[in-house]
Amino acid sequence: MIVAKTIDQIRNIVSQWKSDGLKVGFVPTMGFFHEGHLSLMKESLKRSDRTVVSIFVNPTQFGPKEDFSTYPRDLDRDLNLAKEVGVHGVFIPDVKEMYPSQNKTWVNVEDLTNHLCGASRPGHFKGVATVVAKLFNIVQPDLAIFGEKDFQQLQVIRRMTADLNFPIEIVGAPIFREPDGLAMSSRNTYLSREERKSAICLFKALQLAKRLVAENKVTTASQLQRALADFIESFPFTQIDYIFVGDPELLEPVNEIRLPLLVALAVFVGKTRLIDNILIR
Ligand code: AMP
Repeated sequence: MIVAKTIDQIRNIVSQWKSDGLKVGFVPTMGFFHEGHLSLMKESLKRSDRTVVSIFVNPTQFGPKEDFSTYPRDLDRDLNLAKEVGVHGVFIPDVKEMYPSQNKTWVNVEDLTNHLCGASRPGHFKGVATVVAKLFNIVQPDLAIFGEKDFQQLQVIRRMTADLNFPIEIVGAPIFREPDGLAMSSRNTYLSREERKSAICLFKALQLAKRLVAENKVTTASQLQRALADFIESFPFTQIDYIFVGDPELLEPVNEIRLPLLVALAVFVGKTRLIDNILIR
């Protein structure tokens, strides 16, 4: 496995592979790998001849009061895991390599970022879209894999890729979960033992949403939101950031329940903000 720290290094490696006629898959990450990350890498390995993974905790997607400085990092462990899975190249730039000077150019994906995390984390998707555009230009892969765990991010990247004509296929990968249903996340490591028990409320609330919709127990989004809020608030340490009920393509809220329906949650459990979602068809 090749480990590249600079843009020149990763570009040279990928261009060699491409001139050999090999298909290159790409998995952008912020590291501190769990099975969810590894499932994306395995998917890329299946779909391409060479897989590049980037590990970069991108400062421009964190708000001033968010966890950029404390975000969990363990590069040695990550490199071992990537190697075990069979990844061919890892790109680990430092902040100066990615942002040698203050960026003056930003990628802003309109409308799709008005709600969900776009509303509660102002500037977040501007940072995400910009760093992914930079990584796409640096790595120049044939395909890139993103998790459905970050459903809004996946839609934002799909749209940016289409609007800016990146010749890259975007692939969505299903949410990887702990045995009890909690969506895997690097941030789960922040949870205390008691908080970890409460964290299951997100998955359970989404299952409840699916049941209420399937059994026609709710007809409006506000009824569904009320039911989910009551359920989540019955767990200790929880504070709801948002409960989104809406259109999975437009990422706009709906009033009346109609399929397909995206139900997406952001809930603080203690100080840890967790997200999860379900697409009800
Ligand atoms: P992150 O390192 O958290 O920025 O995530 C890197 C990629 O892994 C993103 O495309 C995420 O959507 C994806 N990812 C994170 N958690 C999961 C999960 N539990 N299941 C599937 N994909 C995930």
